[in-house]
Amino acid sequence: MNERNRLFRFAFLLCIVVFMAISMSEIGVILAAEKKQDPNEIKVLPPDHNHPAFRERIEERAKMVEQQIQQRDVKDPNVLAAMRVVPRHAFVRAGGQRAAYADWPLPIGHGQTISQPYIVAFMTEALKLDPNDKVLEIGTGSGYQAAVCAEIAKEVYTIEIVEPLAKSAAEKLKELGYHNVFVRAGDGFFGWPKKAPFDAIIGTAAAGRIPQPLIDQLKPGGRMILPVEGRLGFQYLVLITKDEKGYLHKQNVMPVRFVPMTGEVEKTP
Ligand code: SAH
Repeated sequence: MNERNRLFRFAFLLCIVVFMAISMSEIGVILAAEKKQDPNEIKVLPPDHNHPAFRERIEERAKMVEQQIQQRDVKDPNVLAAMRVVPRHAFVRAGGQRAAYADWPLPIGHGQTISQPYIVAFMTEALKLDPNDKVLEIGTGSGYQAAVCAEIAKEVYTIEIVEPLAKSAAEKLKELGYHNVFVRAGDGFFGWPKKAPFDAIIGTAAAGRIPQPLIDQLKPGGRMILPVEGRLGFQYLVLITKDEKGYLHKQNVMPVRFVPMTGEVEKTP
């Protein structure tokens, strides 16, 4: 009798295990089917930090953050962490290696520059990025600013008008493992309508006016920062927020000196 009881219990447990296995595999099939349903969905992976450059010049980056960035009151812990991680020297030309962590902008070829580290940190902080954000950058240049944003946000879409710069930045970002940055060669004036709306937009070339397509592609509740040049030739970083009703709030936050935005924006409105 005891033997029969044990056998019965064993058979019962076996039934439960088999039943659970079948249900779980069915759930798996359902999930897989659901995933397959969206052909446009691309799986965006975060940066992987496996490249040796991340293990180089760590102390210089820590010093840069402490002396150039925290001293000037940038506080967002995500921004400070990103600035400590991104290997700025990997984005700088061979001749500029020694000055890669210095307190000034550096040439990147084609008459363009990579911004001063403090300006990169200040602008990134102003965007108030969080890990779910989708960011648009106008003016990829070396790809450095895009990499800093990609450390915090989910996806970064960046447009560069000088084709060879777009190509080299895309290669560099890929080599460094920035799977969540997407680079396109073209005129950033028109934004990236297929990927709009964006939680945050950053412009790194100065124009006399704010391109309307960029305003249109900013989400309600979103932030945009870019240098704007006034009639007298002075440039200011302008921070624009779009409230939930779609109204814009603009403020000049700092005098700056950026390279000019070229292309469509130069034509009279
Ligand atoms: N963010 C860059 C700095 C870029 S300097 C970095 O981290 O290295 C500004 C860049 O804007 C230049 O590379 C310039 O070629 C580019 N640019 C100028 N006008 C543009 C436009 N209309 N669309 C896209 N890029 C533009």
